[in-house]
Amino acid sequence: MLLISCPNCGSRDETEFHYGGQAHVAYPENPNDLTDREWAEYLFYRDNTKGTFAERWLHSTGCRQWFNMLRDTVTYDIQAVYPMGAPRPDSAGKPTAETGTASLAADSTTTGTAAPSISGTSIAPTSTGTIAPEGATK
Ligand code: ZN
Repeated sequence: MLLISCPNCGSRDETEFHYGGQAHVAYPENPNDLTDREWAEYLFYRDNTKGTFAERWLHSTGCRQWFNMLRDTVTYDIQAVYPMGAPRPDSAGKPTAETGTASLAADSTTTGTAAPSISGTSIAPTSTGTIAPEGATK
């Protein structure tokens, strides 16, 4: 059982939260310009990181607010909790994420090139645009 520290409410039991999937997956700037494959990759392809992973959580029975968390997927160690729209606190996890997408890129060359550029361009400007990923999750 995890003890999760909500940025608004403090430490609460894991049962009060819902997992929201990978964090920092930004909505494409021009969705109409994407091919069907690129759109499908935006919708369904996520990293499967072993180690530190940035993920979204919803405090569903508390403040009902979304936030991001850095969690080790092996040890379940929660390394950081930070608000939606904020950059990922560590930069150490990035090489791990890149190797994760590189293995995907071996199967499809478009995955490795398209996904990082989409997420890298519009995370910061759309910090309040977290509404779109929230709706997509539910
Ligand atoms: Zn809360």
